Amino acid sequence: DYVQRWRQRQPETPPNEAEPCRVRVYVRKRPLFGYEQEAEEFDVATAKGRKIVIHNCLTKADLRSLFISHMGFQFAEVFGEAASDEEVYQSTACPAVQHLLQNKVATLFMFGQTGSGKTHTMGGLVQRAAQHIFQQEPTVTLTAFEIAGKVMRDLLDHTHKEKELKIREDKGGNTQVLGLHSLEASSPEQLQRFMTEAQNGRATRATQVNETSSRSHAVFQIRKADSTATLTLVDCAGSERREDTTNHDARSRKDAAEINSSIHALKECFRAMRSAKGQPPYRESLLTRVLSDSFSSDEAMIVAIGTVSPAAKDTEHSIGTLRALQQLQGTQMTLEEREDVLKPKVEVEKESHPKTWSEAEVR
Ligand code: ADP
Ligand code: MG
Repeated sequence: DYVQRWRQRQPETPPNEAEPCRVRVYVRKRPLFGYEQEAEEFDVATAKGRKIVIHNCLTKADLRSLFISHMGFQFAEVFGEAASDEEVYQSTACPAVQHLLQNKVATLFMFGQTGSGKTHTMGGLVQRAAQHIFQQEPTVTLTAFEIAGKVMRDLLDHTHKEKELKIREDKGGNTQVLGLHSLEASSPEQLQRFMTEAQNGRATRATQVNETSSRSHAVFQIRKADSTATLTLVDCAGSERREDTTNHDARSRKDAAEINSSIHALKECFRAMRSAKGQPPYRESLLTRVLSDSFSSDEAMIVAIGTVSPAAKDTEHSIGTLRALQQLQGTQMTLEEREDVLKPKVEVEKESHPKTWSEAEVR
Protein backbone atom coordinates (compact mmCIF):
# COMPACT_ATOMS: atom_id res chain seq x y z
CA ASP A 1 0.00 0.00 0.00
CA TYR A 2 2.79 2.33 1.03
CA VAL A 3 4.84 1.54 -2.07
CA GLN A 4 1.82 1.90 -4.30
CA ARG A 5 1.05 5.35 -2.98
CA TRP A 6 4.68 6.23 -3.47
CA ARG A 7 4.49 5.14 -7.13
CA GLN A 8 1.33 7.05 -7.72
CA ARG A 9 2.62 10.27 -6.34
CA GLN A 10 1.66 13.32 -8.27
CA PRO A 11 4.07 15.71 -9.93
CA GLU A 12 4.82 18.70 -7.79
CA THR A 13 2.54 21.66 -7.97
CA PRO A 14 3.39 24.99 -6.39
CA PRO A 15 1.71 25.30 -3.03
CA ASN A 16 0.22 28.65 -3.86
CA GLU A 17 -0.22 28.57 -7.58
CA ALA A 18 -3.73 29.96 -7.37
CA GLU A 19 -2.41 33.20 -5.89
CA PRO A 20 0.96 33.61 -7.55
CA CYS A 21 1.49 37.14 -6.38
CA ARG A 22 -0.25 37.74 -3.09
CA VAL A 23 1.46 35.50 -0.54
CA ARG A 24 4.81 33.78 -0.99
CA VAL A 25 6.71 31.82 1.64
CA TYR A 26 10.44 31.06 1.28
CA VAL A 27 12.99 29.39 3.54
CA ARG A 28 16.71 29.98 3.96
CA LYS A 29 18.96 27.56 5.80
CA ARG A 30 22.08 29.11 7.31
CA PRO A 31 25.44 27.31 7.36
CA LEU A 32 26.80 25.68 10.50
CA PHE A 33 29.10 28.12 12.31
CA GLY A 34 32.76 27.29 12.89
CA TYR A 35 32.22 27.16 16.64
CA GLU A 36 29.30 24.79 16.18
CA GLN A 37 31.45 22.44 14.11
CA GLU A 38 34.17 22.61 16.73
CA ALA A 39 31.59 21.66 19.36
CA GLU A 40 30.78 18.49 17.36
CA GLU A 41 27.53 19.99 16.21
CA PHE A 42 26.22 18.55 12.94
CA ASP A 43 23.89 19.51 10.11
CA VAL A 44 20.50 17.79 10.16
CA ALA A 45 18.85 19.85 7.42
CA THR A 46 18.84 19.23 3.68
CA ALA A 47 17.63 21.99 1.40
CA LYS A 48 16.90 21.21 -2.22
CA GLY A 49 14.71 22.90 -4.76
CA ARG A 50 11.47 23.72 -3.07
CA LYS A 51 11.94 21.33 -0.17
CA ILE A 52 13.66 21.27 3.14
CA VAL A 53 14.06 18.06 5.12
CA ILE A 54 14.94 17.94 8.83
CA HIS A 55 16.39 14.66 10.13
CA ASN A 56 15.67 13.64 13.64
CA CYS A 57 19.16 12.62 14.74
CA LEU A 58 20.68 12.38 18.19
CA THR A 59 24.17 11.55 16.97
CA LYS A 60 26.19 12.20 13.85
CA ALA A 61 26.13 8.49 13.02
CA ASP A 62 22.33 8.63 12.82
CA LEU A 63 22.65 10.69 9.63
CA ARG A 64 23.49 7.50 7.74
CA SER A 65 20.81 5.40 9.35
CA LEU A 66 17.84 4.12 7.42
CA PHE A 67 15.69 4.17 10.52
CA ILE A 68 15.90 7.82 11.37
CA SER A 69 12.70 9.72 10.84
CA HIS A 70 12.71 13.00 9.11
CA MET A 71 10.24 15.63 8.10
CA GLY A 72 9.91 17.36 4.78
CA PHE A 73 8.35 20.73 4.04
CA GLN A 74 7.73 22.44 0.74
CA PHE A 75 7.77 26.17 0.02
CA ALA A 76 7.89 28.54 -2.94
CA GLU A 77 11.66 28.03 -2.85
CA VAL A 78 14.24 26.89 -0.33
CA PHE A 79 17.71 28.43 -0.20
CA GLY A 80 20.49 26.19 1.07
CA GLU A 81 23.59 27.26 2.97
CA ALA A 82 25.39 27.84 -0.34
CA ALA A 83 22.78 30.27 -1.67
CA SER A 84 24.06 33.80 -2.10
CA ASP A 85 22.35 36.94 -0.87
CA GLU A 86 21.89 37.83 -4.53
CA GLU A 87 19.94 34.63 -5.25
CA VAL A 88 17.74 35.21 -2.24
CA TYR A 89 17.19 38.80 -3.35
CA GLN A 90 16.23 37.88 -6.92
CA SER A 91 13.51 35.48 -5.80
CA THR A 92 12.14 37.22 -2.74
CA ALA A 93 12.70 40.96 -2.39
CA CYS A 94 13.20 41.92 -6.04
CA PRO A 95 9.53 41.32 -6.96
CA ALA A 96 8.53 43.30 -3.86
CA VAL A 97 10.70 46.24 -4.91
CA GLN A 98 9.19 46.13 -8.39
CA HIS A 99 5.79 46.21 -6.75
CA LEU A 100 6.81 49.33 -4.81
CA LEU A 101 8.11 50.97 -7.97
CA GLN A 102 4.70 50.33 -9.54
CA ASN A 103 3.13 52.34 -6.70
CA LYS A 104 1.87 49.34 -4.75
CA VAL A 105 2.28 48.01 -1.25
CA ALA A 106 4.66 45.13 -0.52
CA THR A 107 5.71 43.58 2.79
CA LEU A 108 8.58 41.24 3.63
CA PHE A 109 8.57 39.26 6.87
CA MET A 110 11.71 37.69 8.30
CA PHE A 111 10.67 34.84 10.54
CA GLY A 112 12.77 32.34 12.49
CA GLN A 113 14.58 31.33 15.64
CA THR A 114 17.02 33.78 17.24
CA GLY A 115 20.42 33.29 15.60
CA SER A 116 19.00 31.67 12.44
CA GLY A 117 19.82 34.63 10.18
CA LYS A 118 16.81 36.98 10.05
CA THR A 119 18.80 40.19 10.50
CA HIS A 120 21.68 38.89 8.38
CA THR A 121 19.37 38.02 5.49
CA MET A 122 17.46 41.27 5.78
CA GLY A 123 20.74 43.21 5.60
CA GLY A 124 21.62 41.57 2.29
CA LEU A 125 18.16 42.25 0.91
CA VAL A 126 18.15 45.89 2.01
CA GLN A 127 21.51 46.53 0.38
CA ARG A 128 20.25 45.27 -2.99
CA ALA A 129 16.80 46.79 -2.61
CA ALA A 130 18.39 50.21 -1.99
CA GLN A 131 20.44 49.94 -5.21
CA HIS A 132 17.37 48.86 -7.14
CA ILE A 133 15.04 51.57 -5.80
CA PHE A 134 17.38 54.48 -6.52
CA GLN A 135 17.75 53.41 -10.14
CA GLN A 136 14.26 54.78 -10.47
CA GLU A 137 13.54 57.07 -7.52
CA PRO A 138 15.44 60.24 -6.57
CA THR A 139 14.38 60.09 -2.89
CA VAL A 140 12.50 57.85 -0.48
CA THR A 141 11.59 58.23 3.18
CA LEU A 142 12.31 55.73 5.93
CA THR A 143 10.50 55.15 9.20
CA ALA A 144 11.43 52.44 11.68
CA PHE A 145 9.95 51.28 14.94
CA GLU A 146 10.01 48.36 17.28
CA ILE A 147 7.13 46.49 18.93
CA ALA A 148 8.00 44.84 22.24
CA GLY A 149 4.96 43.40 23.95
CA LYS A 150 2.39 46.19 23.80
CA VAL A 151 4.98 48.94 23.65
CA MET A 152 6.21 50.63 20.48
CA ARG A 153 9.36 52.71 20.21
CA ASP A 154 10.85 54.77 17.41
CA LEU A 155 14.12 53.35 16.11
CA LEU A 156 15.13 56.58 14.38
CA ASP A 157 14.48 58.97 17.28
CA HIS A 158 17.83 58.81 18.98
CA THR A 159 17.09 61.59 21.46
CA HIS A 160 13.99 59.93 22.94
CA LYS A 161 14.93 56.29 22.72
CA GLU A 162 12.62 55.14 25.48
CA LYS A 163 9.58 57.20 24.53
CA GLU A 164 6.51 55.06 23.87
CA LEU A 165 4.80 55.67 20.57
CA LYS A 166 1.04 56.10 20.42
CA ILE A 167 -1.36 54.96 17.76
CA ARG A 168 -4.58 56.39 16.41
CA GLU A 169 -7.36 55.11 14.22
CA ASP A 170 -8.12 57.34 11.28
CA LYS A 171 -11.58 57.81 9.79
CA GLY A 172 -11.15 54.87 7.47
CA GLY A 173 -10.42 52.63 10.45
CA ASN A 174 -6.72 52.39 9.61
CA THR A 175 -4.22 52.51 12.42
CA GLN A 176 -1.53 55.16 12.31
CA VAL A 177 1.57 55.35 14.43
CA LEU A 178 1.83 58.92 15.75
CA GLY A 179 4.91 61.10 15.81
CA LEU A 180 7.20 58.74 13.94
CA HIS A 181 10.48 60.24 12.81
CA SER A 182 10.99 59.93 9.11
CA LEU A 183 14.27 60.40 7.31
CA GLU A 184 14.63 61.26 3.68
CA ALA A 185 17.30 59.34 1.81
CA SER A 186 18.59 60.37 -1.59
CA SER A 187 21.11 57.62 -2.27
CA PRO A 188 21.37 53.86 -1.66
CA GLU A 189 24.25 54.43 0.75
CA GLN A 190 22.27 56.94 2.77
CA LEU A 191 19.23 54.66 2.99
CA GLN A 192 21.42 51.81 4.11
CA ARG A 193 23.12 53.97 6.71
CA PHE A 194 19.73 54.94 8.16
CA MET A 195 18.66 51.28 8.22
CA THR A 196 21.85 50.31 10.02
CA GLU A 197 21.34 53.10 12.56
CA ALA A 198 17.83 51.85 13.20
CA GLN A 199 19.06 48.26 13.64
CA ASN A 200 21.76 49.51 16.00
CA GLY A 201 19.18 51.36 18.08
CA ARG A 202 17.55 48.01 18.57
CA ALA A 203 20.77 46.23 19.37
CA THR A 204 21.84 48.80 21.97
CA ARG A 205 18.69 48.35 23.90
CA ALA A 206 19.02 44.60 23.52
CA THR A 207 22.20 44.50 25.58
CA GLN A 208 20.61 46.71 28.23
CA VAL A 209 17.38 44.81 28.62
CA ASN A 210 18.54 41.27 28.05
CA GLU A 211 18.14 40.37 24.40
CA THR A 212 15.27 42.62 23.46
CA SER A 213 15.84 41.99 19.78
CA SER A 214 14.72 38.39 20.13
CA ARG A 215 11.57 39.57 21.90
CA SER A 216 10.57 42.39 19.65
CA HIS A 217 9.38 42.88 16.10
CA ALA A 218 11.23 45.59 14.18
CA VAL A 219 9.35 47.30 11.36
CA PHE A 220 11.11 49.31 8.62
CA GLN A 221 9.06 51.21 6.07
CA ILE A 222 10.43 52.65 2.84
CA ARG A 223 8.02 55.06 1.20
CA LYS A 224 8.06 56.52 -2.27
CA ALA A 225 7.78 60.31 -2.28
CA ASP A 226 4.26 61.66 -2.98
CA SER A 227 2.80 58.19 -2.86
CA THR A 228 1.27 55.70 -0.49
CA ALA A 229 3.42 52.99 -2.07
CA THR A 230 5.40 51.37 0.71
CA LEU A 231 7.91 48.59 1.07
CA THR A 232 7.75 47.24 4.62
CA LEU A 233 10.38 44.96 6.10
CA VAL A 234 9.58 43.18 9.35
CA ASP A 235 12.34 41.55 11.38
CA CYS A 236 10.13 39.40 13.61
CA ALA A 237 10.75 38.42 17.21
CA GLY A 238 12.54 35.09 17.64
CA SER A 239 10.12 32.31 16.74
CA GLU A 240 11.40 30.16 19.63
CA ARG A 241 9.45 32.42 21.99
CA ARG A 242 6.33 30.70 20.85
CA GLU A 243 7.05 27.68 23.00
CA ASP A 244 8.84 29.59 25.68
CA THR A 245 5.90 29.94 28.04
CA THR A 246 6.91 27.80 31.01
CA ASN A 247 10.15 29.34 32.14
CA HIS A 248 11.36 32.87 32.86
CA ASP A 249 9.93 35.83 34.65
CA ALA A 250 6.44 37.26 34.33
CA ARG A 251 7.61 39.94 31.90
CA SER A 252 9.09 37.34 29.60
CA ARG A 253 5.94 35.24 29.72
CA LYS A 254 3.84 38.27 28.91
CA ASP A 255 6.05 39.10 25.93
CA ALA A 256 5.85 35.50 24.77
CA ALA A 257 2.05 35.62 25.00
CA GLU A 258 2.01 38.85 23.03
CA ILE A 259 4.31 37.42 20.35
CA ASN A 260 2.12 34.30 20.19
CA SER A 261 -0.94 36.42 19.61
CA SER A 262 0.79 38.50 16.94
CA ILE A 263 1.94 35.38 15.09
CA HIS A 264 -1.54 33.93 15.33
CA ALA A 265 -2.99 37.17 13.97
CA LEU A 266 -0.42 37.10 11.15
CA LYS A 267 -1.50 33.60 10.19
CA GLU A 268 -5.11 34.69 10.07
CA CYS A 269 -4.26 37.73 7.96
CA PHE A 270 -2.21 35.59 5.57
CA ARG A 271 -5.13 33.21 5.34
CA ALA A 272 -7.56 36.00 4.46
CA MET A 273 -5.09 37.31 1.88
CA ARG A 274 -4.76 33.93 0.23
CA SER A 275 -8.44 33.28 -0.03
CA ALA A 276 -8.99 36.88 -1.12
CA LYS A 277 -12.31 36.98 0.65
CA GLY A 278 -13.32 38.57 3.88
CA GLN A 279 -11.39 41.24 5.72
CA PRO A 280 -8.07 40.23 7.25
CA PRO A 281 -8.52 40.23 11.05
CA TYR A 282 -5.69 42.67 11.59
CA ARG A 283 -7.22 44.14 14.74
CA GLU A 284 -6.21 41.04 16.67
CA SER A 285 -2.67 42.18 17.44
CA LEU A 286 -0.67 45.37 17.58
CA LEU A 287 1.69 44.14 14.86
CA THR A 288 -1.10 43.38 12.39
CA ARG A 289 -2.94 46.60 13.32
CA VAL A 290 0.00 48.79 12.43
CA LEU A 291 0.53 46.71 9.29
CA SER A 292 -3.13 46.90 8.23
CA ASP A 293 -2.16 48.58 4.94
CA SER A 294 -0.07 45.55 4.10
CA PHE A 295 -3.16 43.37 4.20
CA SER A 296 -6.01 45.61 3.18
CA SER A 297 -5.06 46.57 -0.36
CA ASP A 298 -6.19 44.27 -3.17
CA GLU A 299 -2.81 44.66 -4.78
CA ALA A 300 -0.70 44.11 -1.68
CA MET A 301 2.15 41.61 -1.97
CA ILE A 302 3.32 39.59 1.00
CA VAL A 303 6.58 37.67 1.15
CA ALA A 304 7.66 35.68 4.19
CA ILE A 305 11.22 34.40 4.49
CA GLY A 306 11.78 31.81 7.17
CA THR A 307 15.32 31.28 8.41
CA VAL A 308 16.42 28.01 9.99
CA SER A 309 19.48 26.72 11.76
CA PRO A 310 20.88 23.41 10.47
CA ALA A 311 22.26 22.39 13.89
CA ALA A 312 20.99 19.21 15.55
CA LYS A 313 20.58 21.10 18.83
CA ASP A 314 18.04 23.40 17.15
CA THR A 315 15.94 20.62 15.57
CA GLU A 316 12.88 21.31 17.65
CA HIS A 317 12.92 25.04 16.93
CA SER A 318 13.61 24.47 13.23
CA ILE A 319 10.61 22.17 12.94
CA GLY A 320 8.52 24.67 14.91
CA THR A 321 9.55 27.45 12.52
CA LEU A 322 8.83 25.35 9.42
CA ARG A 323 5.42 24.32 10.74
CA ALA A 324 4.50 27.92 11.46
CA LEU A 325 5.66 28.89 7.96
CA GLN A 326 3.49 26.17 6.46
CA GLN A 327 0.55 27.65 8.29
CA LEU A 328 1.42 31.07 6.88
CA GLN A 329 1.50 29.46 3.46
CA GLY A 330 -1.66 27.48 4.05
CA THR A 331 -0.31 23.99 3.36
CA GLN A 332 0.09 20.78 5.30
CA MET A 333 2.87 18.29 4.98
CA THR A 334 1.87 16.15 2.01
CA LEU A 335 1.95 12.38 1.77
CA GLU A 336 4.66 12.67 -0.83
CA GLU A 337 6.84 14.57 1.57
CA ARG A 338 6.29 12.02 4.28
CA GLU A 339 7.48 9.32 1.86
CA ASP A 340 10.96 10.72 2.21
CA VAL A 341 10.98 9.47 5.75
CA LEU A 342 12.77 6.21 5.02
CA LYS A 343 15.93 7.61 3.50
CA PRO A 344 19.18 8.45 5.26
CA LYS A 345 20.39 12.02 4.87
CA VAL A 346 23.15 11.11 2.44
CA GLU A 347 20.57 9.58 0.10
CA VAL A 348 18.29 12.59 0.31
CA GLU A 349 21.22 14.83 -0.56
CA LYS A 350 22.33 12.69 -3.49
CA GLU A 351 18.95 12.80 -5.17
CA SER A 352 18.97 15.24 -8.00
CA HIS A 353 16.27 17.79 -7.84
CA PRO A 354 15.95 19.90 -10.95
CA LYS A 355 14.29 23.19 -10.26
CA THR A 356 11.15 23.44 -12.31
CA TRP A 357 9.12 26.56 -12.54
CA SER A 358 5.46 26.95 -13.24
CA GLU A 359 4.38 29.69 -15.55
CA ALA A 360 2.97 31.64 -12.61
CA GLU A 361 6.30 31.53 -10.85
CA VAL A 362 8.24 32.77 -13.84
CA ARG A 363 6.08 35.85 -14.05
P1 ADP B 1 18.76 36.52 13.96
O1 ADP B 1 18.56 37.93 13.49
O2 ADP B 1 17.79 35.56 13.34
O3 ADP B 1 18.77 36.38 15.46
P2 ADP B 1 21.36 36.87 12.81
O4 ADP B 1 20.95 37.39 11.48
O5 ADP B 1 21.85 37.85 13.80
O6 ADP B 1 20.19 36.01 13.46
O7 ADP B 1 22.43 35.72 12.55
C1 ADP B 1 23.20 35.16 13.59
C2 ADP B 1 24.64 35.02 13.10
O8 ADP B 1 24.68 34.12 12.01
C3 ADP B 1 25.21 36.31 12.60
O9 ADP B 1 26.57 36.39 12.98
C4 ADP B 1 25.10 36.19 11.09
O10 ADP B 1 26.07 36.95 10.41
C5 ADP B 1 25.26 34.71 10.86
N1 ADP B 1 24.50 34.22 9.69
C6 ADP B 1 23.17 34.11 9.62
N2 ADP B 1 22.76 33.64 8.42
C7 ADP B 1 23.88 33.46 7.70
C8 ADP B 1 24.15 33.00 6.36
N3 ADP B 1 23.15 32.63 5.53
N4 ADP B 1 25.42 32.94 5.96
C9 ADP B 1 26.43 33.30 6.79
N5 ADP B 1 26.25 33.74 8.05
C10 ADP B 1 25.01 33.83 8.52
MG1 MG C 1 18.21 39.62 14.65
